[in-house]
Amino acid sequence: MAAPAPTQHPDGPATGGVAAAETETLAAAGDAHRIVVIGGGAGGLELVVKLGRKFRRDAGVEVVLIDKNPTHIWKPLFHEVATGSMNSYHDEASYRMLARKHGFRFLLGRATAIDLDARRITLDAVRDGDGNEMMPGRKIDYGTLAVCIGSLSNDFGIPGVVTYSKQLDSREQAERFHKDFTSALHRVNSLEDASSVLSIAIVGGGATGVELAADMHNVVQRLREYGFDHFSGDSLKVSIVEAAPILLPRLPDRIGVSVQKELERIGVNVRVGTRVSEVTETAVVTSEGETLPADLSVWAAGVKAPDWLAASGFPVDRLGRVEVSDDLKVRGYDNVYALGDCCAFTAKDGTEVPPRAQAAHQMAAVTARNIIAERKGRHLKPFVYRDFGSLVSLSKFSTIGNLMGNLVRGTVFVEGWIARLVYLSLYRMHQASVHGPFSTLLIMLGDRIYKATRAEVKLH
Ligand SMILES: Cc1cc2nc3c(=O)[nH]c(=O)nc-3n(C[C@H](O)[C@H](O)[C@H](O)COP(=O)(O)OP(=O)(O)OC[C@H]3O[C@@H](n4cnc5c(N)ncnc54)[C@H](O)[C@@H]3O)c2cc1C
Repeated sequence: MAAPAPTQHPDGPATGGVAAAETETLAAAGDAHRIVVIGGGAGGLELVVKLGRKFRRDAGVEVVLIDKNPTHIWKPLFHEVATGSMNSYHDEASYRMLARKHGFRFLLGRATAIDLDARRITLDAVRDGDGNEMMPGRKIDYGTLAVCIGSLSNDFGIPGVVTYSKQLDSREQAERFHKDFTSALHRVNSLEDASSVLSIAIVGGGATGVELAADMHNVVQRLREYGFDHFSGDSLKVSIVEAAPILLPRLPDRIGVSVQKELERIGVNVRVGTRVSEVTETAVVTSEGETLPADLSVWAAGVKAPDWLAASGFPVDRLGRVEVSDDLKVRGYDNVYALGDCCAFTAKDGTEVPPRAQAAHQMAAVTARNIIAERKGRHLKPFVYRDFGSLVSLSKFSTIGNLMGNLVRGTVFVEGWIARLVYLSLYRMHQASVHGPFSTLLIMLGDRIYKATRAEVKLH
């Protein structure tokens, strides 16, 4: 029987033997061992770039990235997309461009299930903005898999959260929030009444909540420069509601105390030790029955992993995060890794690795090393999390945090321009791992030119 003719796949070069079915199955090219990374975020993108570079000239290995979006934006910047401090179209990096540069293959699509025994991923059909099907659903076979799909906000089953609160889990959500925020700014300004107020309630006093609150005040302080003559600093009332007795409860107390002081100085109403029992269209209701008015409410009170991982048979913890062994392999599956926010890793001393970009970055480095070691028949390295400290950006007002590790002895509390410099360098380090150091320098130059020629706040 004649071999099936090679088929041009919509996401990449011609592949032979593509099965025609109700969903298309993308088999590995020839006898190549296919390594698939699902999720090109803080961890997954760094991983796939390392693997692409390593195996680009090895015909026996094919490296594939799957992401539901065509471009990458570093998630710790989502609050700036939400307020308009950052233009997502300027800061995005195209996966196809990176795939071409680093020697991996990119498939656009949302993974909805993984058959761990058949080693097969199911991708939904891809549709354009009008709902027209661009690509049919597909099945992708893998030899080795790395799951890096990040996390979602955890609503803890509290009534009204899903219906009325905004989240910042994805670029689309951050852009949606930005639209609603700018509409609300226009609406309040058009009332031409100095006593009109825009009320925003943020539930969750972690990094997302406090950074968002500070950046909203930064944007509002600049509005008069852009013709919002009736909008003053007093027109915005932001409340942060946190159940723990302190902001940033996972970080050393001194950071939470300093951040609260700074937020209160700029006018944020901070409510610690307060639980939320319900969210309505116009308010956030506390368990004591108090009603905090909210033209917009944001839910940033903790994360969980997407439900479909548990439904696919992955071993998961109470937050639906995939349980992994020391070498970051999924428990019970020798050819599957999980890293970043979607995995649950408990160190030998019983501490849980926190859902942070820093952890995803370190996990990506160890996973890349272990996948390469496996191909060469070498020993795998156990993952050991090193906490280098945490920094919280309060927009132009302050940056506060602590530094630990190689550069300092013990833990050093930092604030001000040193903290700002280290905070900004984290994003540049991520860019350098993805684009290379030279391209990152060019990007930094491009950013300077962009900022000098465009409005500093996106208000449309
Ligand atoms: C506003 C905000 C501020 C933050 N600030 C900080 C900070 O200052 N410092 C810090 O360390 N951390 C911060 N974080 C947390 C940090 O962003 C995460 O810990 C980190 O991004 C996790 O990396 P990841 O690779 O696991 O997932 P992500 O970076 O979230 O990447 C997940 C990727 O998977 C893709 N994906 C998801 N589902 C699917 C699917 N079904 N199919 C295909 N693709 C899929 C997504 O499109 C995305 O590209 C912040 C988070 C937010 C929201």
